[in-house]
Formats: sequence, structure tokens, C-alpha cells
Amino acid sequence: AKADGRGTYRFFEPAMNAAVQARRSLEIDLRRALALKQFTLVFQPQIRLETGEVSGFEALLRWHHPERGLISPATFIPLAEEIGVIVGIGEWALRTACREAARWAQPASIAVNLSPIQFRGGKLVETVTLVLAQTGLDPARLELEITEGALLDDTDGVLTVLNGLRHLGVRISMDDFGTGYSSLSYLQKFPFDKIKIDQSFVRGMAGSAECGAIVRAIARLGASLGMRTTAEGVETADQLDAIRAEGCTEVQGYLTGRPMPASEAFALLGAGAHV
Ligand code: C2E
Ligand code: CA
Ligand code: CA
Ligand code: CA
Repeated sequence: AKADGRGTYRFFEPAMNAAVQARRSLEIDLRRALALKQFTLVFQPQIRLETGEVSGFEALLRWHHPERGLISPATFIPLAEEIGVIVGIGEWALRTACREAARWAQPASIAVNLSPIQFRGGKLVETVTLVLAQTGLDPARLELEITEGALLDDTDGVLTVLNGLRHLGVRISMDDFGTGYSSLSYLQKFPFDKIKIDQSFVRGMAGSAECGAIVRAIARLGASLGMRTTAEGVETADQLDAIRAEGCTEVQGYLTGRPMPASEAFALLGAGAHV
């Protein structure tokens, strides 16, 4: 039983209570995870279809929880956003990814995901400027991936930030394209450098002519707007053939490379890998 503040008591089901407790303890752990160095980044290759070469890597967060093991970003990123710790975690991810990329033998690109929350507070351009200076990474090698969520709140403010980032020489990608409500209107408002076609369309191509048509339309749209198009979540050779036929410029998926530790990404570039 728990006091609800009005002098009465509410009774929770034991199972409900357990779920609330579990979430609360995860929250406490997440607040300390950065200081306890429990995060790492893994790097997933992006392949340029024209040449078969690795054009760059996307940095993806992993949380190694001491008791629960590996926790997926799909679980902890929404929680980190809710409790406000995403700004610190996001800055750590950006700095770590840039520092890693600065060591590579080839000038491959490094893509870093940004949470919509990182656009608030007016510090993002300053943070990116600082990280580029600290790591010595060529700004042209940094790609920032944003989702429609970032553009939803306050479009003018977000456009100012995006233009500020572009002014630094970094590139901006639209992530999970096609899953939101008004993706097309954002392409008109801001000139993205790259469109990342959501995995759901790629996965659907085998069984649905509609998904194939959508991928083709996005690839053509990208080409006519001068934007590169990356197909995400490619797992099979058939999917690779299909997205190649539709005219996407890049591919990222388990078929061409799973997310890997920094040491493996480093070695892959040192070897001048072709896929
Ligand atoms: P995302 O940005 O769309 O990243 C792509 C996700 O698809 C990654 O999941 C990746 O491991 C997975 N993936 C790649 N290829 C395949 C494939 O062929 N098949 C399948 N089934 N999945 C594939 P992951 O690493 O679990 O990340 C999930 C999401 O968490 C990301 O989706 C992104 O939204 C978020 N995230 C990850 N790292 C960060 C970060 O540093 N900052 C922020 N704000 N979000 C992050
Ligand atoms: Ca992404
Ligand atoms: Ca995505
Ligand atoms: Ca996603």
C-alpha cells in the first residue's frame, strides 16, 4: 500500500508493484551508468554500392549492466530521454565516436545518432564544435543522424541548429525515413545529405510489391534532390539485389556487416576492405 498524498491508500497488484520497482531501479542504474563507464559503442559498416567499399560506420550505443547484462538501446534510450540523462550520454557517444574515427587509417565517415532532446537547450552546435576541436576529426567525416522526432517540437529552432551544424561542415542524415507523419515536408524544409530508408520497407520488399515501390520512390527522390540513400536492415542477398536494382546508393545491414567492436572496425579499414 502506498500513500497517494490525499491521506488515502492505493493498493497495487503485486505484479504491477514489481514492474514499477524494476523500472525505478533501472532508472537509478541508468543515472550512474556513464560515471561507472558501463557504455560502449559498436560500429556497423555502411557500404557504397557503386564500389563495394566501406564508406563509413554508424556508432551504436551498448549498455553493459553489471547484473542484467547487455541492455538494448531500444530499452534504455527512451528511458534516458525521459529522465534527462540522454544529453550527457549523447555527448559521450559523440566524443567517443569522433575520437575513434580520428584513429582510422582511412578517412571513412562516422555516423552518430542524435536524440531530439539534444536539440533543446541551445548547446548542440557548441558541443559539436568542441568535440571536433578536441578529437581533431575532419568535420566532413562526421554525419549526424536525426529522426523526425527532432523536427517535430519547434521547427524554426531546429532548423537554426541544423544550419549551424551544416555551417561547421558536418553532414546531416534523415534516419528511419518513411516511418513518420510528414517526412516529405522535412525534405523540403531542410537539405539533408542522406536519407536512411527504414528497415521495415527493406524487410517488406520480398513479400510486398508496395514496399518495393516505396523503396524505389525514395531512391529516386533522393537522387533528384541530390541526396544519398542508404537502405537499412539488409539481411539477405535477395534484399541486396533488390535495393541495388531500385537505385539506393548505400547499404547497411547484417548481410554486409553486424555492429562490431571498435578494434574490428579499425582492422577492417586498415585492411582496405571490399565487400
Ligand atoms: P537506428 O538508428 O535505426 O539503428 C539501426 C538499428 O538496426 C541498430 O539497432 C542496428 O543494430 C540494427 N540493425 C542493423 N542492421 C540490421 C539488420 O540487418 N537486421 C536487423 N534486424 N537489425 C539491424 P540497435 O543498435 O539496437 O539500436 C536501436 C536504436 O537505438 C537505433 O536505431 C537508434 O534509434 C538508437 N540508438 C543507438 N545508439 C544511439 C545513440 O548513440 N544515441 C541515440 N540517441 N540513439 C541511439
Ligand atoms: Ca541511426
Ligand atoms: Ca534507422
Ligand atoms: Ca530506429
